[in-house]
Amino acid sequence: MFELNDTHRMVQDMFRQYMMNEIEPIIDDIEDGKIPLFEPLRKMVETLGIRSQMDALDLSKPLRGDSPEKRRPDPDDPLQGMEVVAGNLLIKEMSRVSPGAAMSFGVCTGLAGGTILAKGTVEQKEAFGRPLMKLDKIGAWCLTEPGAGSDALGSMRTTALEDGDHYVLNGSKTFITNGPVADIFVVYAKLDRGGAGKEIQNFIVLREDAGLSTGTPFQKMGMKASQTSEVFFDDCRIPKDRLIGGETAAKSRDHVKEGLSNERSAIPTIALGIIERCFEIAVGYAKERVQFGRPLIEFQLIRNRLARMYVAMENVRNLFLRTMQQAIFGGQTKLDVCMGKLYCAEMATWVANEAIAILGGYGYMREYVVERLARDAKLLEIGAGTAEMQIITMGEELATTWKP
Ligand SMILES: Cc1cc2nc3c(=O)[nH]c(=O)nc-3n(C[C@H](O)[C@H](O)[C@H](O)COP(=O)(O)OP(=O)(O)OC[C@H]3O[C@@H](n4cnc5c(N)ncnc54)[C@H](O)[C@@H]3O)c2cc1C
Repeated sequence: MFELNDTHRMVQDMFRQYMMNEIEPIIDDIEDGKIPLFEPLRKMVETLGIRSQMDALDLSKPLRGDSPEKRRPDPDDPLQGMEVVAGNLLIKEMSRVSPGAAMSFGVCTGLAGGTILAKGTVEQKEAFGRPLMKLDKIGAWCLTEPGAGSDALGSMRTTALEDGDHYVLNGSKTFITNGPVADIFVVYAKLDRGGAGKEIQNFIVLREDAGLSTGTPFQKMGMKASQTSEVFFDDCRIPKDRLIGGETAAKSRDHVKEGLSNERSAIPTIALGIIERCFEIAVGYAKERVQFGRPLIEFQLIRNRLARMYVAMENVRNLFLRTMQQAIFGGQTKLDVCMGKLYCAEMATWVANEAIAILGGYGYMREYVVERLARDAKLLEIGAGTAEMQIITMGEELATTWKP
């Protein structure tokens, strides 16, 4: 079983301190739109050395050297898989303070930047991927459409028509994280070359491209640190070298599936951040708050709540560790991804609501943090494929490929 080692824990402590000192004090201003989220995030990537690491990245080579299947655990190497562990710890620690910030950061670097770094040509990686990883540019990842949510691929209507040395995009996307502020949009569209078949490909569209526009930010229940909007393509002409991976690109359905799988694999990480913080706040409060002459923690009903929250936290932690282990050494199945997404998202919502219950009226107040985490947690059940979609995929896998 993969465990955090001392080096990982040092990195975790450093990230936690950073988030508590630099992001927590301004999170209300970010949520209220007084401070643009990417300003403190840019400072963060500079201070934590992420920027210089991204500058040093050799983009002519595959992202992580050997395929994970070839790697074997090496107990003498405390830095093995460090890029995966550090990336996950950063998202987890950010989620303890603001899952919304973690989502916007993850979409920019993991989904938009990550897709370009994984599938783009060397020129695309350099021109668009690296600036996204360093937050010099803000990225969005555009799959969902007004009429294509859970059935994102089957019902997709956005098209890219081949026209000489350009593609012309028409259609619209909705619920796009970072939509209002993005510079670079990774867009999924049906490529129309005039023939019968229209395969889904993905394209890089820039804010300055004529024909691209974005809607006003949606007012949301939670994830308020992150801005969300529609994105419109109205005869939007882009040069042909913006097809991700170039003309010889692998069929993009794989890109989509990989993107979704990566997004889903991030849910245990965000969920664990939410759950850890809610649990710590709830225990701390239960020890301090006195009613009927005794601290709340002395009441059996409160202990029952805390015990069950603890079970959820440790189960989610195990799934978080297992997901990282599989990212480093391979072996992740569709069942693993959907199980982690489904369970961790539901537990994050449940634990955050239990924390509110333990804090009573104070839990409902902004100052006590858990209400923010509860509102943000709910999105984990919806984004990256709803809970129902995870169950449907798991059912299909269990019926067809699973063996005892
Ligand atoms: C804040 C936020 C940020 C987002 N960010 C992005 C982003 O950056 N990029 C992006 O592309 N998308 C993004 N999304 C979109 C998100 O992935 C979709 O909302 C999600 O996939 C669900 O699609 P839908 O909202 O159209 O719901 P629908 O597909 O219409 O589903 C509605 C309900 O019906 C259920 N349902 C649907 N089909 C079935 C079925 N066959 N059987 C049983 N139940 C079913 C669903 O589970 C759900 O409960 C974001 C969404 C939100 C809210």
